[in-house]
Amino acid sequence: MEEFVSFLIFELFLKNPLFWLLIILGIMSLFFYKKIVGAAGEFWVKRELKKLSKEYLIINDYMIRIGNKTYQIDHIVVSLYGIFVIETKQYNGYLTGNDYDKTWIQYSGKKKYYVNNPIHQNYGHIQALKKALELSDNNFISIVCISSRAKVKVKSNKVVLIGNLITNIKSYHEKILLNYEEIYNKIISFNITSRQERREHVKNIKKYVKQKHIDNINKCPKCGSHLVERESKYGKFLGCSNYPRCKYIKNN
Ligand SMILES: [Zn+2]
Repeated sequence: MEEFVSFLIFELFLKNPLFWLLIILGIMSLFFYKKIVGAAGEFWVKRELKKLSKEYLIINDYMIRIGNKTYQIDHIVVSLYGIFVIETKQYNGYLTGNDYDKTWIQYSGKKKYYVNNPIHQNYGHIQALKKALELSDNNFISIVCISSRAKVKVKSNKVVLIGNLITNIKSYHEKILLNYEEIYNKIISFNITSRQERREHVKNIKKYVKQKHIDNINKCPKCGSHLVERESKYGKFLGCSNYPRCKYIKNN
């Protein structure tokens, strides 16, 4: 009987190339999980944007250089009603936050994470485009599109679930950008398409994120003040230097 089982395992799995292919794919997807998830999010938003009529001009995966900094923008929709700048996010779990805080809080299972406020990130993208196009703020509409099934309790009209994206874009009626086709062409002309420059951008972002992580370790995620060592009868702990206005305490 035992022999038969091992024979079966050998015949069905180990000798089967499909089995090995699945194992390899499994390992690879674990390895590239973040990249795959990010690409999937952008894929769904891209597909969603195709539902807009032809008067909405769409640009996906855009990159622009201002000075010595490059900015990567997931999606831009140029229309008579303004320029929609869309940042796609794939979160899981439960999210809370607002327009102004430096970070949002993400609850995933029993764990709590601080994520950088994507509205601020998108604001930076808009400033870059604004500078390049010499337009004013009111020509831009910032959208953070949540393309996953996260429960979002974020107090902001800039945060839109993917299912509401088209309705949200179509809710703008005021004709503010009469020369939108010209602006679309201008935006396209700034797009960095060279692979080398794009790779350089990714490298710089990684460096920046690493540095930011180091900076953030000693910063209060709630208000951005420095964390200082304090002592209570229970021992030493790290707390916000902005106490008593901010009562953040770092848990170890
Ligand atoms: Zn604080």
